[in-house]
Amino acid sequence: MEGSVTSQIEQKKVALHTLGCRLNFSETGTIAGGFTERGYALVPFGDKADVVFINTCTVTDQADSSCRNLIRKAHRSSPDGQIVVAGCYAQMEAETIAKMQGVDLVLGTQEKYKVFDFLEDAQKDIIHIDTSNDFWGANTTISEGHTRAFLKIQDGCNYICSFCIIPFARGRSRAISIHEATAKAETLAAQGFKEIILTGVNIGEYEHKSGEKLSNLLAAIDKIDGIERIRLSSVEPNTITDELLEVMKSSPKFLDHFHVPLQSADPEILESMRRKYTIEKYGSVISKIKDAFPEAAIGADIITGYPGESEEQFEQTFEYLKSSPITHFHVFPFSSRKGTTAAGLEGRIQSGEKKRRVKTLIGLGEFKLAEFSRKLIGKKCSVLFERENQSGYFEGYTSNFVRVWVKSSQDLKNQIFEVLPQSFSEGHLTGELLQ
Ligand code: SF4
Repeated sequence: MEGSVTSQIEQKKVALHTLGCRLNFSETGTIAGGFTERGYALVPFGDKADVVFINTCTVTDQADSSCRNLIRKAHRSSPDGQIVVAGCYAQMEAETIAKMQGVDLVLGTQEKYKVFDFLEDAQKDIIHIDTSNDFWGANTTISEGHTRAFLKIQDGCNYICSFCIIPFARGRSRAISIHEATAKAETLAAQGFKEIILTGVNIGEYEHKSGEKLSNLLAAIDKIDGIERIRLSSVEPNTITDELLEVMKSSPKFLDHFHVPLQSADPEILESMRRKYTIEKYGSVISKIKDAFPEAAIGADIITGYPGESEEQFEQTFEYLKSSPITHFHVFPFSSRKGTTAAGLEGRIQSGEKKRRVKTLIGLGEFKLAEFSRKLIGKKCSVLFERENQSGYFEGYTSNFVRVWVKSSQDLKNQIFEVLPQSFSEGHLTGELLQ
């Protein structure tokens, strides 16, 4: 008893916080696992800790400023703790971060996985940023209830979209091999995960040095026993091939859910953004997806307030979205990132106007998602339950990514059940189990 109290007292604590995309969450999960393996206890961010690890994002200036606020908060809650700031913002603005009070380590997008080595080095420099292109894989879960795991298969990007800082922060595209990906997926299956989400910066560009393609990887992951559901994170429209859709169509494990970034429906803006598709090409890809997966939910990233975006161009995007099958909107206001082509463009949109456009598109997205969800009422859906919520319902997602609540006396966590949705409100369906 006394021994356990002593070891409790001696156990070091780490608090982690993630900003940004699913990929970042996936990576933080891996790093959290590294800390627990080394005997650390995980504590909530904001609690006193020996190490505070902040995995940053730099996709917007809002993300940069959130990161600086988090560093201040970390220093207040853990004045004697070691504060580590890692990831994309750290990669881009290392000097600024290193000067902030309380910061002990600034680690780039490659170095964040070596945080343990750096922490042990008493003579360490503060900044560690490398620009080489090694792949540092990560696989883990962020979903509550231990049911869905994010498996990172690719990092970096070779595109040069005018607004995007990611290729500067994460470097060129590289991928893990199919052998490595399937080994990781098998481990996840053995740990009890039923669903995996394949993530990366630009997974459509998945291509291993050996010539392996994304379609080959999907076919291999499909064969793993225990993994019952597979989702892809964002896939660029120009990388969605017939071959890829064929592989996905051939197995029920691939879910009815695609996230295909659009950004704008105006041809001129798309060209200025240096996106690799026309609006016609985008439309034809979405039609192909809907032909292959008629029940599919389609999500898209949309940027509004891009320099020079006129009211007519905004309206064009609005009307396109209104009539398209896209139902899961991720709307971002344009944010000027130093070093990108778009940062030098004229025709800045006032922030109030940007906010109005964002709000208008979010409103449209909510309306379309509700409409899409209501169409599922009375239709049998398969749901992987993730957790019991505070209202006493079990919650999970359908294949086409609609949240479902169900009351049950049995524990549904991490199980897949057929459900009959009966109503939709407040962003989720409510239904009953079909046994
Ligand atoms: S595809 Fe474009 S927006 Fe996406 S990460 Fe690459 S450069 Fe950025």
